[in-house]
Amino acid sequence: MEETREQLEFDVLFVGGGPANLAGAIYLMNLAQQAGKEIEICLIEKAESIGSHSLSGAILDPVALKELMPDYLDKGCPIEQPECRDEFYYLTRTGKFSVPYTPSYMHNNGCHIISLSKFSLWLGEMAEELGVMVFPGFAGTEVLYDEDGKRIVGVRTGDKGIDKDGNKRPNFEPGVDLMAKVTVFGEGSKGSLIREVDKKLGIFEGKMPQIFETAIKEVIELPDSNSFHASATTVVHSFGYPLGLDTKGGGFLYKMKDNRVALGFVLGLEYDDPLLEPYQAFLSFKKHPLIADMIQGGKVLQQGAKTLPAGGFYTMPRLAVDGAVFVGDSASMLNIQRLKGVHTAMKSGMLAAETIMSAMEKEDFSGETLGLYGQKVTDSWINKELYAARNFSQALSIKGITKFITIGAQYLSGGRGFSDPMPIEADFTTFTKLQNSTAAPVESPETQDLDGKLYLDKLTGLYLSGTTHEENQPCHLVIPDQELCMTECYEKYRSPCTRFCPAQVYELEEDADGSKRLKLNPSNCLHCKTCEIKDPFNNIIWTCPEGGGGPKYSIV
Ligand code: SF4
Repeated sequence: MEETREQLEFDVLFVGGGPANLAGAIYLMNLAQQAGKEIEICLIEKAESIGSHSLSGAILDPVALKELMPDYLDKGCPIEQPECRDEFYYLTRTGKFSVPYTPSYMHNNGCHIISLSKFSLWLGEMAEELGVMVFPGFAGTEVLYDEDGKRIVGVRTGDKGIDKDGNKRPNFEPGVDLMAKVTVFGEGSKGSLIREVDKKLGIFEGKMPQIFETAIKEVIELPDSNSFHASATTVVHSFGYPLGLDTKGGGFLYKMKDNRVALGFVLGLEYDDPLLEPYQAFLSFKKHPLIADMIQGGKVLQQGAKTLPAGGFYTMPRLAVDGAVFVGDSASMLNIQRLKGVHTAMKSGMLAAETIMSAMEKEDFSGETLGLYGQKVTDSWINKELYAARNFSQALSIKGITKFITIGAQYLSGGRGFSDPMPIEADFTTFTKLQNSTAAPVESPETQDLDGKLYLDKLTGLYLSGTTHEENQPCHLVIPDQELCMTECYEKYRSPCTRFCPAQVYELEEDADGSKRLKLNPSNCLHCKTCEIKDPFNNIIWTCPEGGGGPKYSIV
């Protein structure tokens, strides 16, 4: 029997509590108040609190923040370091080369180092002060359409209190239908609702496949005796070891306040060696003498992981449909050339807000009217940035030294390079066969001398992410063809999900007769979405677990 559900109506519904939607909601409320118009804005977020699922480098170019809130410093915006002073290295196994020239887009003059979780929490407070109804702990699980199935009219939140067999527990609460004139999707990387919108309305049709990267990040507290903290450098970027030139990725170390640093490692998910393990690569990076020296004596306070959509310009979807718009990472607004996306995400939310305000004045929420948002993006500095970087991610994926020649050609030709657009394969199609694997497998945790303080195994890192889920709920990781896991996938690639997942969600178990099976620990999930992207058979579907579950980031 169809569940009876409460229906709540709003003018605008923001789905997702990241910087794009928070900036959009704040800006829209400001515009409405300036116009003397009362407007009901709701924002939902699947995390337990705003910021709990927000993880990024993060160096913030404050260009959009200054437009949104010129007095952001007076309003207590949490800034870790007001200025950036960069160093850039190529790492060999034990050595380092300082890169003598970095292109202008790599410079971080005028940028701030922030913690995205703290920053998002603060933006959430600013939004609430203005009257935005902010509801953390509510996951949007279904997109609602009008009777014709063409216009988006809102989002259904997930039922709470369903057990792992699909039965109602005593604490069952049906999800609520949140109805809105306009729904703004800002779910972040690889959103599960936007995936369904695409299936129905084809918003990514004709676009290049998205290019993703996975990032693992820690916040480390350093002792007073550590010399890096006393140095003037605030930003270190590296490439090379442990990946070499054939696999895309690199590391970063950003100075924070209170004797803390953010240390991270990013790996392009089009890597082709099925034996490569992103978490192990992260540990190897940490153990490089340059980095080990900078973090010497430290203690990891928090760890997390997420994916980032790096495809940029050629992977951006149609930005508006009847009743909805798409912002931030959901709309592929990240500028991977600058290793930044918070500023473009915020600006996209603000441009969406301007468009929604005009639509409200006309009482017209059609895709055509909301499509003005796409034009605003085209006319803005977002487009200028992303267009100049339109082939960058593809060029970075090229193997060997040709990569740098191609990137140089792009830099000198305003982003065009040798061919435009440069094509790219979907991430999940890129594994070579096991026997063709040439990249050296990274060291195993056993040989990496993990001390449980500065160098952690996956499960200790997971513990420091604060991740919890209701255990008695349906598994949110759907594997349509389970047989394929132990036949083709194990045979061809040795079950790479057991390696690319940074949270040990997928494990191989062996029965007494020697047969193997895949065991899932869904409550470990960090919501990074790597598995849905990198599974070589496209055989993992990430769905949203009960609202409030997942990591509890507070300083990453
Ligand atoms: Fe990330 Fe998937 Fe592992 Fe969850 S199960 S942590 S989404 S790779």
